[in-house]
Amino acid sequence: MNGISCQPLLDRLTFALVKTGVISDLSKRKTELEKIKFCLGVEVTYSDVKINVQEEIQNLLDALYDKCEDHSKSEALAMKAKNQGSKAYLKKKDKEALNCFSESICLAPAESSVLPLALANRSAVLYQMRRYKEALQDMEWAEGACYPAALRHKLLVRRCRCYLSMGDIKKAREVLEACNNHIHLVPLEAKDKYETEVADLKQKIENHVPTSSTITSQENLQQPSLYGGENETVKYITNAFEMKENDKYGRHIVAVEDVMKGSEVFVEKPYAAILLPEHHKTHCHTCFSRLLTSFPCSGCRDAIFCNEECRRASRPWHQYECGILHILSSVGIAHLALRILLITGWKLHCYIREEVVEGKVAGFGEKGVYNGPDLIDRYRAVFHLLPHFNSCLLEDQLQYCLAAILLATAISDKTNFIKENMDENGEKTDLDVPHLASAVMRHIAQLVSNAHAITQLMPSDSGGHSRVEQIKQIRVASAIYPTASMMNHSCKPNIINSFYKDVLVIRTTEDIKPGDQVSNCYGPHYCRQTREERQEALKQQYFFTCKCEPCTQPKYMKSEASWSGFYCENCGGASSWMGNEDPGGCNTENNEGVLLCLQCHRVQRPSAHLVYTCSRVNSLHESGEEAIRKGNLPDAVSLLRNAIQIGSKVYLPENQYFLRVRDTLARALADSGDYENCTLELQECLQFMEQRYGPESIELAHEFLKYSEVLELAAAVNDKLQDELRMVKKRINDIFTLNYGPQWKIYLSTSAVK
Ligand SMILES: [Zn+2]
Ligand SMILES: [Zn+2]
Ligand SMILES: [Zn+2]
Ligand SMILES: [Zn+2]
Repeated sequence: MNGISCQPLLDRLTFALVKTGVISDLSKRKTELEKIKFCLGVEVTYSDVKINVQEEIQNLLDALYDKCEDHSKSEALAMKAKNQGSKAYLKKKDKEALNCFSESICLAPAESSVLPLALANRSAVLYQMRRYKEALQDMEWAEGACYPAALRHKLLVRRCRCYLSMGDIKKAREVLEACNNHIHLVPLEAKDKYETEVADLKQKIENHVPTSSTITSQENLQQPSLYGGENETVKYITNAFEMKENDKYGRHIVAVEDVMKGSEVFVEKPYAAILLPEHHKTHCHTCFSRLLTSFPCSGCRDAIFCNEECRRASRPWHQYECGILHILSSVGIAHLALRILLITGWKLHCYIREEVVEGKVAGFGEKGVYNGPDLIDRYRAVFHLLPHFNSCLLEDQLQYCLAAILLATAISDKTNFIKENMDENGEKTDLDVPHLASAVMRHIAQLVSNAHAITQLMPSDSGGHSRVEQIKQIRVASAIYPTASMMNHSCKPNIINSFYKDVLVIRTTEDIKPGDQVSNCYGPHYCRQTREERQEALKQQYFFTCKCEPCTQPKYMKSEASWSGFYCENCGGASSWMGNEDPGGCNTENNEGVLLCLQCHRVQRPSAHLVYTCSRVNSLHESGEEAIRKGNLPDAVSLLRNAIQIGSKVYLPENQYFLRVRDTLARALADSGDYENCTLELQECLQFMEQRYGPESIELAHEFLKYSEVLELAAAVNDKLQDELRMVKKRINDIFTLNYGPQWKIYLSTSAVK
């Protein structure tokens, strides 16, 4: 990318201010503005080097400004990329040609003659790839970008072919007529070929046999709608919920009606959201859809969009970010904080900042509405999210200050934001670098604990453990959702988050009764992390001690303990391994762990016999895996069966390591075609997966996917299994739909779900 990162400077400045002790003065500054002004004025000498914060930041920015040219349009580079694309196209390398033309389209200046040609060329590749819809769109853009009249006939023929291939005969006829009307405009040398092509199309249209094929893509999916209609006072949530406030929980969401499991209860557009830099070249910068073909910003080569609509929607913020996106996006969450202000505008920010809100629940406006629908109501909700600045480590506070100064300076140097936001008299209000930076800081302090990660589904393999396709979630963007931010955390939430483009869609994962609090999981979940890990993570990022059910009730700690459980050598009850993280625990002789029995409460070192048995199981397991790799399946099955037999005397059946051994055996059985026995092993795994992760968990759904694939093969020779197979498929469908929404099907091609 740009080759210069901001983080090393921020780290170096922080290091110098910590070493010289100057950082402690930061904590004495009370307001954000005081902190920013303090940082701007700091000059220290460390290791005989004089360090002036403001100068250092300006120097870095100047170096970054020098790189701006690498992010602006270039006719010459656009031409080069287009020519490369044409070469690849002739060699029938469609994918490469597509990438080259896309690059050319991003590089070409808005008025350039290369742009319509690259678009038209890309449409030819797309037609070849049978992506007719995208091809048609490119041709439309090409025509809109002054495609040469002398070549227009080529696009007419291609458009007609696209509609014909899509089976849209009505449209194909319309274009055919346009083709006929165009004949007299076709250059002489191309006329013969053109007439043959048009005659051929005419024939094909007349002979066309209609088929009823339908395409399902993400666009065909509807954005979900709220269960029971939208709440009138708190926007984006169901009527069945309301917001309350008290000393114990602060602002929080409670149910006022019964809501069934699987209901859509929040459907919220973010106030602001930023695409993560690693997806800049592959995803729409407005709605975060993954793109096959990109529609570029007309001013820079960094921002791409789905179409004109998404490009237009980016105007409020991209008009300022255009050309300096590479600088702004190098400071992570601070960029989102700045984005909030660019969308809001300075005047509205000042208005809300000065507004008197006594007697109302924070975030509610004149009309008694929270978060919408007008910009002023939405920003008020954002502005009143709790900032957690003073709970952050002093080093972090300093880094946020420095990042805010860096961004505010770049905006001041390179954009009209400050000029445009002066008041009517032409005087600057209080808008300058320190004031802008302090406003950015306030939002950073809120985002630290209120920002949401937007995730997207992707197909994935399961890491060699099975051949079955799975779905994974990747993080594509960071966003702020002021209504969803009103939910408190629980390690055992009663809702789950999913995304439709940038829209947050929340479903209930259990039946909710009137009076129940609606709680979200901020990250640490009781099925996936131990109590200790969760408490630590929540303290660090969210500054509170969790008192949810799994964090306080002993029965949860008991089940947690069984993830690494052994039979107690004293009483035969369940004992838990307290040592290193490997649930295989006792495998290494020189480790430091002990076993704590939950029944007789004895704490003891594992006996030599236990250590020996574990290492036996471990080596049998490894040999079994090796045999699978070599294709020696009968040996693999017998080694792994042996491991299970020996292991079942010492490991609790729900021990995570022991379940992995069982899973490997299932794979060996499946590979050797013994589907019936394989299903038996997987049933065992399923039982304990459900026990640990719960009946609605993604982990269980993935295990069911494996099971269904084997079951399908077993059912082919044993008709009695058909009912079971149908039930399993339904179960998979239900769990994935609950967790991810209906769009999950696009990401799995396996027959298991069809
Ligand atoms: Zn888009
Ligand atoms: Zn741009
Ligand atoms: Zn908890
Ligand atoms: Zn015991």
